[in-house]
Amino acid sequence: MNEIFLMKLGEIVLKGANKRQFENKLRQNIRRRMKHYGNFDVYIMQSTVYVVPEDEMADVDGAWEACHSIFGVVSLCRCRPCDKDIDAIYNAIEEYLGDDLDCAKSFKVESKRSDKRFPLTSIAISQEIGGRLAEAHPTVKVDVRHPEYTVYVEVRDLAAYVHGPAEPGAGGLPTGVGGRAMCLLSGGIDSPVAAYMIAKRGVEIECVHFFSYPYTSQLAKDKVLELARLVTKYSGRMTVNIVGFTEIQEAIRDNCPEEYFTLIMRRFMMEIAQRIGKEHGCTALITGENLGQVASQTMEAMAVTGAVVDVPIFMPLIGMDKEEIVTISRKIGTFETSILPYEDCCTVFTPKHPKTKPTLGQLIHAEEKLDREALILKALESVEKITVKYHDDGSF
Ligand code: ATP
Ligand code: MG
Repeated sequence: MNEIFLMKLGEIVLKGANKRQFENKLRQNIRRRMKHYGNFDVYIMQSTVYVVPEDEMADVDGAWEACHSIFGVVSLCRCRPCDKDIDAIYNAIEEYLGDDLDCAKSFKVESKRSDKRFPLTSIAISQEIGGRLAEAHPTVKVDVRHPEYTVYVEVRDLAAYVHGPAEPGAGGLPTGVGGRAMCLLSGGIDSPVAAYMIAKRGVEIECVHFFSYPYTSQLAKDKVLELARLVTKYSGRMTVNIVGFTEIQEAIRDNCPEEYFTLIMRRFMMEIAQRIGKEHGCTALITGENLGQVASQTMEAMAVTGAVVDVPIFMPLIGMDKEEIVTISRKIGTFETSILPYEDCCTVFTPKHPKTKPTLGQLIHAEEKLDREALILKALESVEKITVKYHDDGSF
């Protein structure tokens, strides 16, 4: 075991009485996540997660990459454990970090001693190790203010650990500590980002997708399933509920005034999403709505679409610019799939002049000829449930 990962907990540390529950959840999530990469021991001590490969077969690089998308971790580093002895610490640094150090123009050593029985203070450790390294690497200057490279030494309970600079973690809260929500997932750029953002707050995600065959194609459906799979990299496995929406859209087309088509359709989506969500224990909905982006995303429009449900609707993108959304979409890896050119059911029967300032009274009047309940029940009967996991082998 000559390399392990140390991961620092984020906001969890602040959660007082719930801390234990949060840590347990995080440990469980990391264990589940690591399974795909071989045998790893995962434990938490002093607000730090230790991920330890247990044999030579473990895919350490794959596991390391996966650790970057686990919510609840603010930073992580790969490190070399060694005996709590100053010579052993120095040798470990030479072996493990010597080459990195040689590539830098300047360096410093930063030490932390949580095991107070260790005879040297943190400052004394840094001075001793820094001095030896400076002598052994004469081309690399010591610079304690703006070093190009920092060597870290941590003297902890079980061992000492040496490592280079940490990398940022996924942040957020461990998946599962914040309940469960149902995301309305389209094939666009926005909704996968919205799902990711709420998942980041510790919420388990389920998805619902409305599908209007033959107006929208099998390829459009596959694209949505792929987007869901990409989100599971962060959120963990989810169920995507595919709802046949053709009949509802045709009923709207045949019975309602055109300017209200999109709004009526969205009211159906919300209501159906809430009903399926309740079956799955979801206590909120998530959409990728964004103020002013399209006609159905004005305050008035959101009021009439939100009026059909009684759970909170989370719209994490509501105040963002498109560019900011695209940046996140690229970061989480959904962008390239989102821009594949398949149509969404929202673009079928789009009104030429959609109402941007509707009232609830107008909507109720516009829906008069529809048997909403019968249409909703029929759509619910058609739901196809697909479990989506990140890896082909079915893990995570
Ligand atoms: P997106 O990029 O997420 O498609 P958008 O900017 O295209 O969003 P709309 O098409 O108005 O906006 O949709 C707003 C929100 O409604 C979406 O973000 C998504 O949450 C939901 N939505 C739209 N179409 C569907 C669909 N076919 N199935 C499920 N949810 C949908
Ligand atoms: Mg869309």
